[in-house]
Amino acid sequence: MLAITCVGFAESAIHPIRSVNTSERVVALTFDDGPDPRYTPRILALLKIMGIRATFFQVGKQVEKYPEIAKAVAAEGHVIGNHTYSHMDLGSATLEQIQAEIENCEKAIVNATGQRPTLFRPPKGHYNETLNQILEQNNYNLILWRLCVEHKPAPTSIDMACRIIAKVRPGTIILAHDGRLNRDKDIEALPLIISHLKEKGYKFVTIPELINIERKSQNLLSSKSKTSQPNPERQSKSPNRISWLHSIKKHLRLSH
Ligand SMILES: [Zn+2]
Repeated sequence: MLAITCVGFAESAIHPIRSVNTSERVVALTFDDGPDPRYTPRILALLKIMGIRATFFQVGKQVEKYPEIAKAVAAEGHVIGNHTYSHMDLGSATLEQIQAEIENCEKAIVNATGQRPTLFRPPKGHYNETLNQILEQNNYNLILWRLCVEHKPAPTSIDMACRIIAKVRPGTIILAHDGRLNRDKDIEALPLIISHLKEKGYKFVTIPELINIERKSQNLLSSKSKTSQPNPERQSKSPNRISWLHSIKKHLRLSH
């Protein structure tokens, strides 16, 4: 049962996390809307080959339908977060609806994997103060994203990969999908994104690992003079789009 006391009386201290402040070349890959037999097993196979771990924000109804896939995600060392029970937009939902959506999804994940989620991502990224207070009282982190792999002005998987590769900075949370709609292009873009970011020296971490990296950086910062710290935004230069395109084409054996 979720803890709910005095919602609406005091503002929550919870803040959505879209990226973290760090100069380390780390990124977190996240997947929403699964588990889905069309996509999740393919993504698990790819992540295994690439040797990386990710975070999956799963929908409770889907977890009830495909508990074996949810179990496989957890068994392979990935982290599972709560993405509501029915993928309800919580932006204008009542307290009771929000409570039921979080709690029922949590139960489904615990039943399938034995692990209680501590990360929450609201559908469409919509949140409000009521949701924040419920999350805070139940020790959930509110996780959003900085970059989404799907982007209307990037119609092909190569465009999608180029855009992500060009925009990633240390500490970025990347959103991809493994369910609900057709996600073939996400899956095609993933090996390009992962291999090229690895080439650039990026390490892929889960969301709890990313949060820990920021905590460690903050501890270091507080023990040193702030003026001597490098600025990660200034340090990371934009990759050259042409060279990325060239190497992506080479990767796909499209170049002559
Ligand atoms: Zn979603």
